[in-house]
Amino acid sequence: MIRRLINKVLGKKAAAGPRILPLAKHGIRREQIHSCALKVTDTLAREGYAAFVVGGAVRDLLLGHEPKDFDVATDATPDEIRRLFRRSRVIGRRFQIVHVYCGPDLIEVTTFRAATPPAEDDEEEDGRVTAADGMLLRDNVFGSQEEDAARRDFTVNALYYDPANQEIWDGHGGVADAQKKLLRMIGDPAQRFREDPVRMLRAARFAAKLDFHIDPATRAPIAELASMLARIPPSRLFDEMMKLLLSGHAERGVKQLRAEGLHHGVLPMLDAILDDPARQKFLHAALHDTDLRIRQGQSASPAFMLACLLWFDMQQELERKRAHGLHEQSALYEAMDTVLERQRRALAFPRRFDGMIKEIWSLQGRFEQRSGARPFRLLSHPRLSACYDFLLIRAESGDASQELADWWGRFQDAEEAERAEMLKPAQGSDAKRKPRKRRKPADAAPSEPA
Ligand code: ATP
Ligand code: MG
Repeated sequence: MIRRLINKVLGKKAAAGPRILPLAKHGIRREQIHSCALKVTDTLAREGYAAFVVGGAVRDLLLGHEPKDFDVATDATPDEIRRLFRRSRVIGRRFQIVHVYCGPDLIEVTTFRAATPPAEDDEEEDGRVTAADGMLLRDNVFGSQEEDAARRDFTVNALYYDPANQEIWDGHGGVADAQKKLLRMIGDPAQRFREDPVRMLRAARFAAKLDFHIDPATRAPIAELASMLARIPPSRLFDEMMKLLLSGHAERGVKQLRAEGLHHGVLPMLDAILDDPARQKFLHAALHDTDLRIRQGQSASPAFMLACLLWFDMQQELERKRAHGLHEQSALYEAMDTVLERQRRALAFPRRFDGMIKEIWSLQGRFEQRSGARPFRLLSHPRLSACYDFLLIRAESGDASQELADWWGRFQDAEEAERAEMLKPAQGSDAKRKPRKRRKPADAAPSEPA
């Protein structure tokens, strides 16, 4: 508050403080802020705390994009925030934040963090743990707004919007960088990447998502430090990669990862895919399709993405199981389990995705069966839409026939009579299956309910 007063008296910029930009200079109006975030900042301000909307939301509004979520930063401590909002709870250990709920909406509220100390030996001092190589393991030391801005990653991510005055506090030239479409690390890039190697992945993600170029000085140390990503807990890597792959700009994001030399070891399956032209074609079709879906406001899930990324591994494993003489169905189920377990060891992705991944994979074979009652049963399958999207991606990349994908497109839209006409003669099924046991005759009736 005193800072603002000094700024006002001196004109724009106080000696070392942030530049404070009025509405006329940035154009973000209070009404553009989510009502839940306004409720949080207004309540905090009424109680005498500093309260800003910060990070991605301010950046996105400045760039004319719709923000994904609204985060708030304040000088109130987590306990003080908790006391002000009945529906709130403290989460996190490495980095404590408070979740405040209004209706179905959630606002993340963080207390200003202090500046990061220079790297020393493994060290614990009141709430902050730094490893010998400079990696910040825990960060719960509270500080001022300026310090909080300095420990954020990129200049465009360190813009603070005060809804009460419709001002942006810009301590690191983020507004100018946004205009230049420049992604620039705050502070010494090598040190900041060492503190948290995930920032390297974030650089690739934001450059892709915002269509920014990475400042040469920010970019320079990445190649050398890329191997530090191996020290990041797999679950955090997984979350960060999913953010990239489900950002709506995954195609560009993966290209950016490669350009920075970051794709090796981040997702083990990406290594394998990017070294094999057939897999690459499939991956690009998958990323392209998923990007389009997300940009059209449709859903895309981590499970679908994992099913895409591991599809060829699963096929390979399936061949191996078949070669061991396993019956088709057992071969499929064993192959799916083997691949998922192997990946889980490397990536620690949650088991809750397994069901959907397996459904997407196992339905691919069933698409081949276009006679009798089977296609009708598939129509009422709850995951048909995702499985069909997967088939489209396969067809697009030459992994399944386009004719098959078209047939299923028509079959889903057709009337009952047309569907019956579309069925293939039983022996004409183009499934690449091993001979099966004979089925009961009832199985061949097209009108059999699912
Ligand atoms: P998105 O729109 O993709 O969510 P975002 O900028 O909001 O982008 P978040 O991951 O939600 O990204 O983080 C919110 C803010 O927290 C960032 O804008 C940045 O200021 C800060 N931040 C997040 N992760 C880090 C990090 N690893 N190092 C430094 N600052 C970070
Ligand atoms: Mg965010």
